[in-house]
Amino acid sequence: MIPEPAVLESRTQEYVERGAQIAAAEARQRQRMRQKRFDTIAVHGIYNMEAALANQGSIIEPAYFSPAQHFENSDHMEVALAYQMPAWAYSRIANPTLHYLEETIALLEGYGTSDEVTACATGSGMAAIFMATQPFLEQTGAPMNIVASAKCYGGTFMLFSQRYAVERGVEVRWVQDPLNLDEWARQIDANTRFVFGEMPSNPGLAAFDIAAVADLAHAVQTPLIVDSTVATAALMRPLQHGADIVVHSVSKSMATSGFAIAGALIARHGIPSRVGPDALRENFALYVKLLPFRDHGPAISPFNALMAMNDLRTLRSRMDLLSRNTLRVAEFLEAHPQVEAVNYPGLPSSPFHAAAQRVMWLADGEDDYGAPVNRYGHLMSFQVRGDHAAARRVFDRLEMIWRATDLGRIKSVATIPMISTHQQQGDAGRALAGIPVNLIRLSIGAEHPADIMDDLDQALRQTSI
Ligand SMILES: *Cc1c(COP(=O)(O)O)cnc(C)c1O
Repeated sequence: MIPEPAVLESRTQEYVERGAQIAAAEARQRQRMRQKRFDTIAVHGIYNMEAALANQGSIIEPAYFSPAQHFENSDHMEVALAYQMPAWAYSRIANPTLHYLEETIALLEGYGTSDEVTACATGSGMAAIFMATQPFLEQTGAPMNIVASAKCYGGTFMLFSQRYAVERGVEVRWVQDPLNLDEWARQIDANTRFVFGEMPSNPGLAAFDIAAVADLAHAVQTPLIVDSTVATAALMRPLQHGADIVVHSVSKSMATSGFAIAGALIARHGIPSRVGPDALRENFALYVKLLPFRDHGPAISPFNALMAMNDLRTLRSRMDLLSRNTLRVAEFLEAHPQVEAVNYPGLPSSPFHAAAQRVMWLADGEDDYGAPVNRYGHLMSFQVRGDHAAARRVFDRLEMIWRATDLGRIKSVATIPMISTHQQQGDAGRALAGIPVNLIRLSIGAEHPADIMDDLDQALRQTSI
């Protein structure tokens, strides 16, 4: 018997109502977790006893490798795929394991703000940057530009200068000195689709005044997007300072063990934008996830999501330890006769020290140390005294510190940006980004700092011969 349309409608209505109940229960749990401290959020996310009982009692968030969800009937399917109830349907769009990661990241990045915050996990950091920026490049017939700090990751530089500028004709206005507010102000206008900054930047460790640049962007109703991969939410949360969207390469310090490539974009609700539908402004991360993300397909594997989530649980204590180790290594290198210059925002000599000091604090540090403490992360770089060949000699003589284009690891890793991360952008691009030929980038791990310094020392000493 074929049901009458009215009957059909009441059956779908049942699922819509069930969905509303699921969403309300999650919202309550989210609000409960927002009252907790950083470590508690990192350990539990929104996965609670009720969720565990629906997952055979598993106290760890389960890995769902299934590409697709089975539905009770056609009504359930219809309502789920119309996004009228929480569901996951297909792992390119959503997946329960990813969902737990996204909720944890959103809570951590929103820690200390009163804003509602939503996250969307992606297959890599570059996928997050692409997904966080391309929705603003809608063709409206009017001219458009984007304003970005030139002190940024090589991949971001290429995305903006090649994919956007060369292939799509978007005008990219680079800010060369991110500390100079006049330079930002001169570039931002009513045709600016978004403003983008990285802090601290890779590999120059540059900083900028997030609050002041956010004000400049908001004055023309455009969003500020911040890449805070190097800081992580344990040390800095840009949303607290007025940024609208945060992007992360989760592959780095958030997943220090090094078992997964992953990314995330996180946005507060109610962002400014002169283009795009209302849904984009209301809840940008959800809008991206449900529409452009679904159509572009930069999904993260549930396995990688689980690996990242596992590392996130100890993010704060790890970033504390790694930051302390890095400060010691930076101080050591600053005093070394074979070293020309050291870039680390934790050093008082850094031009970026004051700007970083204002916003880079260990979350809940006062509970460990009796007073709030600044922490600056575990990425630094230094210039070897001499030319490019001298930098290569030091690099080639490292015996324990890995030679790899990687950072954020539990193991110390070194690279030469000119021939690796910033090779593609050429001499002019490197000059713009401020990448000297004798620069070595270091990501300091959890080894005893004395052993890290010994390795650097023996490599540096041999250069003078
Ligand atoms: C590595 C990195 C990215 C790109 O992330 P992937 O996960 O490698 O795609 C973006 N921004 C910064 C600051 C990075 O260090």
